[in-house]
Amino acid sequence: MSGKILIVDDLATNRIVLKVKLCHAHYEVVQAASAKEGLRLVAEQRPDLILANARLSDATAAEFISALRHAEGARATPVMVLQTTDCPTERRAALSAGADDVLSKPVPEALLLARLRNLLRQHHSEQELSLQIGGAQPLGFAEAPPGFDAPGRIGIIARSRAGAYGLQTLLARHSAHATTVIDADRALSLSDTQPPADVYLLQITGAEAEESLRLLAELKAAPRSRARPIIALVEADAAALGVTVLDMGADDVITGHPDPRELILRLSAQLRRKRRGERLRAALRDGLNAAMLDPLTGAHNRRFALPFLQRLIETSQQTGESFAVMLADLDFFKQVNDRHGHAAGDEVLCAVTRHLRAHLREGDMLARIGGEEFLIVTPATSRRRAQRTADRLCAMIAQTPIAVTAQMPPLHVTISIGVTMATPSPTGPAPGVGQLLEEADRALYAAKAQGRNMVTFCARSAA
Ligand code: GH3
Ligand code: MG
Ligand code: MG
Repeated sequence: MSGKILIVDDLATNRIVLKVKLCHAHYEVVQAASAKEGLRLVAEQRPDLILANARLSDATAAEFISALRHAEGARATPVMVLQTTDCPTERRAALSAGADDVLSKPVPEALLLARLRNLLRQHHSEQELSLQIGGAQPLGFAEAPPGFDAPGRIGIIARSRAGAYGLQTLLARHSAHATTVIDADRALSLSDTQPPADVYLLQITGAEAEESLRLLAELKAAPRSRARPIIALVEADAAALGVTVLDMGADDVITGHPDPRELILRLSAQLRRKRRGERLRAALRDGLNAAMLDPLTGAHNRRFALPFLQRLIETSQQTGESFAVMLADLDFFKQVNDRHGHAAGDEVLCAVTRHLRAHLREGDMLARIGGEEFLIVTPATSRRRAQRTADRLCAMIAQTPIAVTAQMPPLHVTISIGVTMATPSPTGPAPGVGQLLEEADRALYAAKAQGRNMVTFCARSAA
């Protein structure tokens, strides 16, 4: 995996040793000899990951990370801290400040590289999501600072019951998270009615490591659990297992007996990451919806409707099924605005949309493609069925009074509908989107000319 890594360490020899390892693994390396220089290079070089020594001459790792988390462009950059000697207090301080991991030297090279790959993978997938929503921070994106997160649901999976309940007791004593012990054999078959955990703690012990690894892979593939972070707990002497676990998709790995406070910090970090991912995905969904939906009525818009019609033309050539294209236009709608105001007109448009939608089938497409003009496409529809549907819609709108405000009597409106049929022929050319819209428009014009509140078929479809 490629990426740009910034090493921040006072000692040139440390930097060189790390640089050799990273370059060998095809990473691009940038070096800083102090926290101050590190912050400058972060702004200039925008590294994908920062590897910092726990003790710098001008700052502690915690101070350096706090400064990074306030710096433009580095708020989400993963930071890994390397300790010269194992010091739990220092480790917790760095994790509290927002470090993604803290490892104590000597770190086996394979474990260091596996952790780097893992953090970069997480970071890149977040970046991709963020790019898809235009790089903008979605509304309400402000994140709770570490230590102020809402409690989550933690699923504990361990093959030994004693191990699982030990972890549950520990979390109950030190945190407000809700915990559930999940039987490893049932972890994948939990019913859909049970909410999945926000984060899983998966204990992997030597004797049953193989089965636990398979479960890890399956949890990472199953639709209900794949977006949920997994923290793997492995035994102290299992560095090689740690590498495998990280490469198989665990989001964090703790070796040895977990220090309760450190475990809580790591859980919080994963909870924050999961919630960040959810917000990004929701923003993406909202953005996609905004691009496809008419903001006033919630019906589809022209941008969605025309490609929909094009796709339907193509698939119906293969299936041989005919479909109907209808243009429905409100009659004398200008008068509604003139007599009752634009807001009342808007309310009528929304009500007509709701009523049309309620009387269409699920696979039918309803779009507002002009001010008071709707496009309705009904797949797999015969001419007879199209006639029935259009007649029903026309009559339903005419018979359904629309309550605009409590102060005024309900309004009565009518629509005219022009219909054309697309009947694929195995030999002839497929109709074009423009042609179908033009035919439906001509039929609509005829309905208006003949008195409105009626359905007219395009002459070509009348046969
Ligand atoms: P016809 O039966 O021939 O279709 O007559 P009409 O009055 O419905 O058609 P015309 O094209 O003369 O007027 C359409 C009106 O629709 C004019 C415009 O003010 C109104 N309109 C278009 N978009 C909107 C909208 O988003 N909200 C509201 N309230 N009115 C709209
Ligand atoms: Mg009109
Ligand atoms: Mg019109």
